[in-house]
Formats: sequence, C-alpha cells, structure tokens
Amino acid sequence: MSNEDEYFAKLEAEKKARMADLLGRADAVEEAARLKELHFNHCGKCGHAMLTSHYKGVEIEVCPHCGAVLLDPGELQELAGEEHHGLLRGIAHVFGFDPKV
Ligand SMILES: [Zn+2]
Repeated sequence: MSNEDEYFAKLEAEKKARMADLLGRADAVEEAARLKELHFNHCGKCGHAMLTSHYKGVEIEVCPHCGAVLLDPGELQELAGEEHHGLLRGIAHVFGFDPKV
C-alpha cells in the first residue's frame, strides 16, 4: 500500500469512527428519550403514575398505589434543613404511615 493509499485509508477509518460515534450518541439520545417517555413521573417501585403533592412548601411526587415518595434533586436537603428529627415522622403523618422512628 502506498503512502497515499495509507493516508486515504486512515482518513476513511477516521470518518467511519466519527460516524459510529455520532450514531452511538444519536442512539443514546433516542434511548434516553424513549425511557423518559416510558417512565416519566411513574413510581420506581410499582410503576403507577405519581401524583404531585406539597409538603412544607416543597413539591413532591407521591405514588397513590404504594406510597413511595419521589423528591427532585435538592428537595430532601431542603426539607431536612428545617428539622432533621421530625422529618420522617412528618412525611409519614401526611401520607398516613407510621415509620416507627
Ligand atoms: Zn408505587
């Protein structure tokens, strides 16, 4: 193989690698969109649709089927910042559970 052939073969290989990378990213983006569409705002434990509720001014998602609670990033810290000791008991009271803590 001549130097020129090697040069073009290398360019072609780089082009294919870039295309594979782009297609891989497109697949990843498409898969992320598919998973979000499938699971968005559904309970991670039982799969039922979550309902929005408010607790101490924080918007939280609660599963009406199993009682699981979903907090967005930072919301637990926001709630715990006010009162550490009574947090679990307070949440449990709102949703009708006794956490025995
Ligand atoms: Zn659930």
